[in-house]
Amino acid sequence: MSADVPDIDAFTRPYWDAAADGRLLLRRCRACGRPHHYPREFCPYCWSEDVVWERANGRATLYTWSVVHRNDLPPFGARVPYVAAVVDLAEGPRMMTEVVGCAEADLRIGMELTVTFRREGEGPAVPVFRTARLSGGGQS
Ligand SMILES: [Zn+2]
Repeated sequence: MSADVPDIDAFTRPYWDAAADGRLLLRRCRACGRPHHYPREFCPYCWSEDVVWERANGRATLYTWSVVHRNDLPPFGARVPYVAAVVDLAEGPRMMTEVVGCAEADLRIGMELTVTFRREGEGPAVPVFRTARLSGGGQS
């Protein structure tokens, strides 16, 4: 087991099943109407338990990031440097993730991103983000 492998339980199973299908899910509260991420069993704003799954459209803007050059926790050690980022999903929630396929020098606050999914070995597909516009670099 590694720190990167999320805990998957009965509650978060739909989230990871959707990710395996290339879909990003949010939780939306039916009491106050606010969406949130990462999934919780109750609304973090009003504590209602009347919260349902909803598919996110997969668009986000970059809020902040930090390039991680060293991380001793597997599997991160083999992956450095990587771009640890916080993005604002189009639906509103802020999400901690990674930006992939974009040079550090090209990162801009507010740049448009789109979700993609990283699959590694036997682990679940993990949502990460790439630049929304293909900039001719041929990166995938
Ligand atoms: Zn609520």
